[in-house]
Amino acid sequence: MKPTTPNFAPPKDAQQRRGIAPVICYPPNARVRADLGAFAELLARAKRTNVVTVPPRDAACVDIPAGAFFRIVSVQGSQVGDLNLWSKADLNERFYSGKTRALHGTHLSTGDRMWSSFPNLRPMATITADTLDWYGFDEFGGSVHDVIGTRCDPYTGRLLSGGDYHNCCHSNLTRALADHCGLSVNVAETYVHDVLNVFMCTGFTRDTGQYFMKASPVRPGDYLEFYAEIDLIVGLSACPGGDCGQEHTSDVAHCYPLEIEVYDPGAMTREKHNTPLKSSYDRSHGRG
Ligand SMILES: [Zn+2]
Repeated sequence: MKPTTPNFAPPKDAQQRRGIAPVICYPPNARVRADLGAFAELLARAKRTNVVTVPPRDAACVDIPAGAFFRIVSVQGSQVGDLNLWSKADLNERFYSGKTRALHGTHLSTGDRMWSSFPNLRPMATITADTLDWYGFDEFGGSVHDVIGTRCDPYTGRLLSGGDYHNCCHSNLTRALADHCGLSVNVAETYVHDVLNVFMCTGFTRDTGQYFMKASPVRPGDYLEFYAEIDLIVGLSACPGGDCGQEHTSDVAHCYPLEIEVYDPGAMTREKHNTPLKSSYDRSHGRG
């Protein structure tokens, strides 16, 4: 955390140094941003083929084939979800929150993509609709659907409070992946990764840069919609923090279920989908 009272005096040219204009690290181009033109027509032809309910303080996994859509839907009450994505073919290829943040920004919305871990670095899913896109950034610098947090977990809980809580998103996702893939919880845990915080409202305080959360603006009926770019296992936890307006890592908050709706345009249409290729970098790292 940056000290509010610095230990060192600013140099004479401090203002000049601070006044340098920033440059965007990765200006988005057509290789990164999605062309949304074709998605509406595809979705219009899709049928809702499955609805999976994620119980409060628990998680569920569902297979989504490449070329199908899925929605994470708020039902009953304001609730935050922690989302993991894995390649159905290889659990080691998983969502890379940090690089997605570098490419698209701290909070995702329509047209942004969820990128996979090295050495793959390809789009796993494209966000095609976001009913909370009106929120933008609020006066505190907060926004929804962040890729800046991690996921609530029992290790940080023990570090900070000394107690054990087993229904954190990390543990919920671990149990759900273990059940879905027939793995032990210890093996499944190694595949659980930093999340897309669906519906969560977060930011960094302007003075100290500390990660904050505030009550989510999501209401029943809101949804975040994705197009699966590769065959996916989707894991979603209904966070024990509920709307994350007060606290997490406990049974205090009001929690509600979330739903995952699957929209399938049909196998014949999905066959026409062009699965993105894995990165073509040769992995020699300069050691020819
Ligand atoms: Zn959580």
